[in-house]
Amino acid sequence: MSAHVFLKVMKKNFNIDSTDKAIIDQLQHDPSITHSKIAEILGLSQPAIGARIKKLAERGLIATQIGVNFQQIPELNLIRVNLKTTRPEDIMELCEYCPFVINAIKSTGDYNMTLFMASRNLKHLDAVMDRHFRNKPYVFRIQMDLVTSMASPIIFPLNLTVESLVNTDDPCKGNPVCAADRKRAGVRSPEELNLM
Ligand SMILES: [Zn+2]
Repeated sequence: MSAHVFLKVMKKNFNIDSTDKAIIDQLQHDPSITHSKIAEILGLSQPAIGARIKKLAERGLIATQIGVNFQQIPELNLIRVNLKTTRPEDIMELCEYCPFVINAIKSTGDYNMTLFMASRNLKHLDAVMDRHFRNKPYVFRIQMDLVTSMASPIIFPLNLTVESLVNTDDPCKGNPVCAADRKRAGVRSPEELNLM
C-alpha cells in the first residue's frame, strides 16, 4: 500500500488529516520527541501540536506503553500458547490476573486463543500451564512454542517481581486468583486427594 493510499484509508476510517499523520509519524519514530520539536518540524505552534496529541490520545489513536524489549533480553523466554477452548472468556479473565501471562487474544480458527507468557525458566511456564490450562475440561488442545526471533521489537510490560517470589513446583500459587483457579476448575489438589 502506498503512503498516499494509506493516508486516504486513515482519513476515511479514523478521520485524521495529514498533520495528525505527520505527528503520529514523528512520535512513532521517536516517542521521546518534545511537542516543541514536532512544532518546529511541522511549522506549527507548540500548543497546536499539544492539542492534537491530546485528541489523538483521547481517541486511542496513539498510546504509549513501557515494557521490556524481548529482542534485547535473550535469557527471558517468550512463549506463545495456542488453545482450543469452549470458554475463552473464562481463560481471558484468568489471564488478566496470572502474573506469568503477558497478554491473551481471542481469534477465529481451530485454536481460538493465543496467549503470550514469559519467564526466565521454562519449567515455571510449564507448571503454570498445568495449574491453569491442562486441568480444564473446557480446554481441548494446547500448543506451546518458544518464540525464537522477531523482526521488530516486541515490547511487553512484565511483572518483574514475580520471578523472585515463585515456588518452583507451582510458580503462581502465591497469587490469590491463581491459587483459587484450581478449585474453580473442579479439579482437586493433591492435598485434597490425600496424595501428599
Ligand atoms: Zn497463574
